[in-house]
Parts: sequence; C-alpha cells; structure tokens
Amino acid sequence: MTLNELQAFSAWDAMFLSVCASALIFLHLYYMHSLKKAEKQRKLAERRCEILQRDLQNDTLTGLLSREGILARLRETKGKQQMCAVLMDLDDLSLFNDAYGRKAGDEAIHAAGEKLRTLAMKHKALAARFGGNEFLLVFQRECPMHNEEIRREIEDIFHDHTHVMPTASIGMASGTCDEYDACILDAEAAMNEAKKKGKDMIVFYDEAMGQRMDELAWIRLKLQKAMQEDGFELLYQPKVNLAAGKVCGYEALLRIRDSTLSPARFIPAAEQFGWIVQIGRTAVEMAVRQIAEWKKEGRDVHKVSVNFSPGQMRDREFVPWLKNLLEQYDVDPSLITIEITESMFMTSTGTSLKLFEELRKIGVELDLDDFGSGYANFSWLGFLPASTIKLDKSIVDSWLKNGTIASIIDMGHQLSKSIIAEGVEERWQYEKLKELGCDVIQGYYFSKPLPAGDAVSLDVSALL
Ligand code: C2E
Ligand code: MG
Ligand code: MG
Repeated sequence: MTLNELQAFSAWDAMFLSVCASALIFLHLYYMHSLKKAEKQRKLAERRCEILQRDLQNDTLTGLLSREGILARLRETKGKQQMCAVLMDLDDLSLFNDAYGRKAGDEAIHAAGEKLRTLAMKHKALAARFGGNEFLLVFQRECPMHNEEIRREIEDIFHDHTHVMPTASIGMASGTCDEYDACILDAEAAMNEAKKKGKDMIVFYDEAMGQRMDELAWIRLKLQKAMQEDGFELLYQPKVNLAAGKVCGYEALLRIRDSTLSPARFIPAAEQFGWIVQIGRTAVEMAVRQIAEWKKEGRDVHKVSVNFSPGQMRDREFVPWLKNLLEQYDVDPSLITIEITESMFMTSTGTSLKLFEELRKIGVELDLDDFGSGYANFSWLGFLPASTIKLDKSIVDSWLKNGTIASIIDMGHQLSKSIIAEGVEERWQYEKLKELGCDVIQGYYFSKPLPAGDAVSLDVSALL
C-alpha cells in the first residue's frame, strides 16, 4: 500500500469513526431523552393513580371519606385496641326525593355530611359516606355509646330544623380494630333492627341480632337450595262456607319440602334477597297445576287462593304470565284468587290499583288478606277491587268477645263484600261468627293446612 493510499484510508477511517461517534452520542442522547420521557410519563401515571386513589377514597358530594377510603384507613390500624362503629342510614330517601325533589335529597346528604365531618373532627373519629344513603362514623377507642353528649350530637344531625332532612336509622356496635369488618357488620345488624322497630332511632348491637343474621344466612341457603332443586310444595287449608255447610275453597300455603321453616320467616327473607318474584310465581304455578290435576281426577273443583307479597308487585309481567298459564293448563281464571294486603296498596296506590284491575280483567278474583292486622283502613274498602275481606286472626281473637266484629261484618256486607274469618281455632268462635253472619271460616277448628290429597277429601260435616 502506497503512502497516498494509506493517507486516503486513514481520512476515510477518521471520517467513519467520527460519524460513528456522532451516531453513538446521538443514540446516547436519544436514549437519555427517552429515559427522561418515560420517567416523566411514569411520574405522571403515578400522580394520576394518586389522584384517582384520592378521589376513590373521598366522596365528592360530601367531602367525607368514601367506603373504600375508610376501609383503607381501618386496614392500616391493626391491633387489639377498641373501636366503635356507628352506621347511619337515611330513612325513606326515595320518598323524600319524591316529596322535595332530588336536589333537596342531595342537599340533605351534603348537610348531614358537613355536620358529620365537624363531629368527627371534634372527637377525632373517622367519618365516611358508606353508601348512597349511608354514613359510617368510627371511633378508634372505647365505645362512646354511653356518652350522652356524643349521642345527642349524632341524633341532632338528622333532626335539623334549618334544613329539610330525612330521619335516620342508626346502629352502633363495639369491637376491636383488628376485626373492624365484624364490628361494621354488627353495626349494620343494629341499624337493620332500628329500621324494623320503626326507623328514626339509635339501636345498640346485642348478641341476639348476630344470631338473627346467622339465621338469615341459613334461610338464604335453604331458599337457594329449594329454588335450584324444585324443593317447594303447597299445603291447602280448607275454607268452609257456613251457609252451605261445606268446603268452598282452599288457601294455598307455601312450604319448603322436608322443612319446618315457616313461610312467615322465609317469605320476608325472600323479599329481602329479591327472590320473591320467582318464588311467588312458583307458588302460583303449583296451585294452577293442582287445580288441573283435580279436574283430571274428576273431583269437585273449588277455588284456590294464593298469597301475593308486596315485592311481587315488581313482577310487571305477572298478569300476562298468569293468563298464559291458566290457558296452558285449561283452568278457569275464576278458580284462582289472589290474596292481597293493605300494605301493598299503601306503598304505591297507582301501581297496585292498576295491577288489581288487570287481574280482575282476566277473571281472577282478589281477597283482602289480614284485614285488621295493620292499618284497617275502612275508607279504602269501598274502592279496593277485592270481593272478599279476610279478617285477621288477631282481630278474631281480640274483638270477637266484645262484638266489634259484628260491625265490621255488617259494614263489609253493606259494601257487598263477603267476609272470611281466619285463624278460628275453637268451637265457640265458630258458633259466634256464624251467629254474626260471617260467610266463610278458615282455621285449625276445621283443619290445619294439608297436603293436596288430604285437603280434597276432607269432610267437615261432623264439625258443623
Ligand atoms: P296468611 O296468608 O295470613 O296465611 C294464614 C296463616 O295462618 C297460615 O300460616 C296458616 O297456616 C295460619 N293459620 C290458619 N289457621 C290458623 C289457626 O287457626 N291458628 C293459627 N295459629 N294459625 C292459623 P302459614 O302457612 O305459616 O303462612 C304464613 C304467611 O306466609 C301467610 O299468612 C302468607 O302471608 C305467607 N305465605 C304463605 N304462603 C305464601 C305464598 O305462597 N306466597 C306468598 N307471597 N306468601 C305466602
Ligand atoms: Mg293469606
Ligand atoms: Mg292472613
């Protein structure tokens, strides 16, 4: 290689090296830039997460902690130290919203939140909006249940004369910080008890409420199993027409097969779990199928009444469904009676009247059940489309002796309603009711609820 060639090569080489070096520097700079950019993005993402977390942990309407927020704070404080949970649930907020408007509802929640925050700050407690209508206050120390001042301050939040404010049902419970979730559940049980007792009050948790919670969980399992495994059956309690001196119909009463659990317990539970629509339809379907079977066996077919709970009013398709069912089993609609109660009428008059009218239109009759156990509002009797009034056992027991029942029977007759007395257990009651002109009697005096086969062949003539 000549000197010239060598010089030329070195010049190329140097240029190549310098290009490479520049590229490396450029790549390095680019890499550093990308790193910085990624770091910035990561920080931004972290910040966004923090904001999201903070938003999640705070309630935007009240500025209190949210459910997640208070639970996160409680998770942080471990140990055996005492705590007290106060759960406050606004009563009938939807009715309040209907009456005063949604804005007033929001304002009430906001005002309650403000007061709760002041109270929490004063007593170094945690306060949260725990659900739509629910607030939770937590004292991480000895339970201040018996501190009159705190109690009054809590009550005052919902008895505010400067704002229109719904009342609240309040449950209180004590426990230890490491079992905060159990303590909140206990407060919830106490709050539910306050609702049951009539709302607008404070209830302290006791062991019996815990047992009731366990019982509810047990009923839930029983119901779930019965729904999945065709585990319901109907018993039929005869109704005796006094003028004709014979059985004129049956009330179908639901049971869980092989279980002594009373429907008085599992029907309200089914309502609470939101299963009553399905279970209610099951009962109606079994009754219609039974009538079809009796018909097929060539029996004298009587009317069967089936109970209808307030929660079943959510079953918007009930009437067309029932019409279809009756057609499918070729059962005359007049053989089915639906037993309704005054409380159904109380909660939403428009919806219930429409439903009752639709039932009547397809030829199904209505009985007003448990009359006298609740409101016993006589003024409704005139326009309630029920053809029969069933006097509740409680009024048969307490009013038969003093004659008040005579006036009720008279009034019912004046309104062209037929009168059934329920829960008649003794002969003197039967005789007295007969003398007063009661039309039909249902009760243990004639028979307890029976399996279909026994009910249909029951002879009551010896008891008349
Ligand atoms: P209800 O409709 O008022 O039914 C009458 C209840 O009184 C029945 O209790 C019946 O067994 C009981 N009874 C009848 N005669 C006497 C008597 O002489 N003495 C006493 N002590 N009790 C008597 P049951 O079967 O436990 O039903 C309780 C409630 O459960 C029913 O009250 C009804 O509200 C509800 N229920 C029962 N079956 C159904 C159903 O299929 N669907 C719905 N939605 N509710 C049902
Ligand atoms: Mg009934
Ligand atoms: Mg009844």
